[in-house]
Amino acid sequence: MTHPNDESTPVPFDDEWEERAAEQLAETEFDTELGVELAKDAQRVVAGELSEPEFHEKYHDTVREEFDVDERAIETGVSEAIDTDEGEAGIVSRASNAFDDEASRREVVKKGGAVAMGLSMLLGDSDAASAAVSDEPNDDGTRLGMVINLNNCDGCLECVEACKRLHGTSRGAHWIYVMAYADPDQADENFFVRTCMHCGDAPCEKVCPVGARHTREKDGLVLTDYDICIGCRYCMVSCPYGANYFQWGDPDTPRENEGFTHDEREMWVDGPPPNGAMGKCTFEPAWQDGQAGEKLVGTTMCEMACQRDAIHFGDLNDPESDPNQHIREYREAHPNDRSKFDDRTENTVSTFRAMEDRGTDPGVIFIGNEPSEDARQVEGPVSYEEFGLIDDRKSEVLDAKEEANNGGEQA
Ligand code: SF4
Ligand code: SF4
Ligand code: SF4
Repeated sequence: MTHPNDESTPVPFDDEWEERAAEQLAETEFDTELGVELAKDAQRVVAGELSEPEFHEKYHDTVREEFDVDERAIETGVSEAIDTDEGEAGIVSRASNAFDDEASRREVVKKGGAVAMGLSMLLGDSDAASAAVSDEPNDDGTRLGMVINLNNCDGCLECVEACKRLHGTSRGAHWIYVMAYADPDQADENFFVRTCMHCGDAPCEKVCPVGARHTREKDGLVLTDYDICIGCRYCMVSCPYGANYFQWGDPDTPRENEGFTHDEREMWVDGPPPNGAMGKCTFEPAWQDGQAGEKLVGTTMCEMACQRDAIHFGDLNDPESDPNQHIREYREAHPNDRSKFDDRTENTVSTFRAMEDRGTDPGVIFIGNEPSEDARQVEGPVSYEEFGLIDDRKSEVLDAKEEANNGGEQA
């Protein structure tokens, strides 16, 4: 898909996208235009349309002006090409000391909002027919990710509920989102399951001015350091998958002191985000570090909750990992790949990665049919309301603020 105003890009920055992005940022007090432009260009960087040094240079002064720091992550090896007044270290290091304490973080936390995933953010711009699956061991190290078998999903929402229960996320923050959809090319009932893709080249990380969003070196998890996040929401608009949820007000379930919220680096990267910070699916870093016992290393809560064998978590670079084994076994058991037929109406054993042509290198591989551009969200067999998962938090917080402001003016 190309932008109507720019034939050179596969990234769809049409007016609708721009309007939505601006709306999401408008409720913060940070620079909306900067956030929109950064989000666009970060996606151009991952799509190979803009170089990292150009991206950095283009926004360095403006980011410094707006945030006092520019801690946007860049790929190793690119930093040498960038000449700035603070030197290489100022750019490539994580902003572990950008905001030393909670109070200073709070000072710059502004308004933001949880935004439900839009169907259009997920569908219809990937030409990828089949995702790469590892049959041979490789030297790329550990890459934790998932294989999600959409053919097995029946829309029960058990994963959604379990994720919420474990992480104590607030109403409306769906770190995993199961979407029922109708598609003219597919069976009557189809499901798409969206977590964070833990992208290998994550645009959300490239835009984070304070370095809160980062990729964990040892296993590729993309995480948010809650102690550093200032809630600017630039990551939210730069993510093509709608995976980010801003924390409105204090979390419904404060769990700051529980062990699983911090990983082995002692970074606060899991559990409900504090007021004004950004949250998203984490792949349970503390579990992967063994803090919850050996049994939970190599699994996730949603994988455990799924009774239909739809979610498979593990090292995508290891041919013997659960996700890779599942793909092999499933293909053996279902040799008839219907994706080769024009009139396919049933499940396929093809694999795909969502929006793979965007260059994000998503760490989630799907088995099944990819939703087409004509897919439309429909009501599923189990409603989010039944699980008490309706989002009313944003309006509650905004209403309370408005009330306080009105009260203040009257006083
Ligand atoms: S899917 Fe996750 S890692 Fe990828 S851009 Fe979105 S938030 Fe970042
Ligand atoms: S992680 Fe926090 S500070 Fe970084 S871009 Fe997202 S909202 Fe802004
Ligand atoms: S991996 Fe963990 S955080 Fe992500 S959707 Fe599953 S349960 Fe939720």
